[in-house]
Amino acid sequence: MTSTPPFAGGCLCGAIRYEISAPPYDPHYCHCRSCQKAAGAPAIAGAFIARTEFRIIRGKPRYFRSSAVAERGFCKDCGTYLIYRPLIAEWSNWMIITIACLDHPEELSPRRHYGSESRIPWFDPQGELPHEKYEDNFIDILSDGSPDERKAILERFGAP
Ligand SMILES: [Zn+2]
Ligand SMILES: [Zn+2]
Repeated sequence: MTSTPPFAGGCLCGAIRYEISAPPYDPHYCHCRSCQKAAGAPAIAGAFIARTEFRIIRGKPRYFRSSAVAERGFCKDCGTYLIYRPLIAEWSNWMIITIACLDHPEELSPRRHYGSESRIPWFDPQGELPHEKYEDNFIDILSDGSPDERKAILERFGAP
């Protein structure tokens, strides 16, 4: 059975709860090192949402600036990683939530892999899905690249 909006989720201890008023889209795995470390897990399963559809209904995430172009929101009490939020203007309208923190994670099945250059070899969930690699200098290009270089990255990896 599929939930109708709002989708809801929260952290392990329950201090933070949120609602999303439209279905998340492009569910995916991200294998980049930053996601691995943020969650202490071999990969993140995430999905995009429009920022305007997201509402915190309890608690307040703390944000950690995990790169030059993004911050990650987590619960300061239990440590659960909940939110990826780009800090660059072109990507200011979307964010990513961690699928496992939704109340019904079974409803969003990943459809592709991002960050496959950092995939841990023993972890290969749904290996038949498409893989996308991030360039080594992906973050540097986003923060300091030429307009053309930035455009190419923005088109490849922005919210679909
Ligand atoms: Zn918590
Ligand atoms: Zn990642």
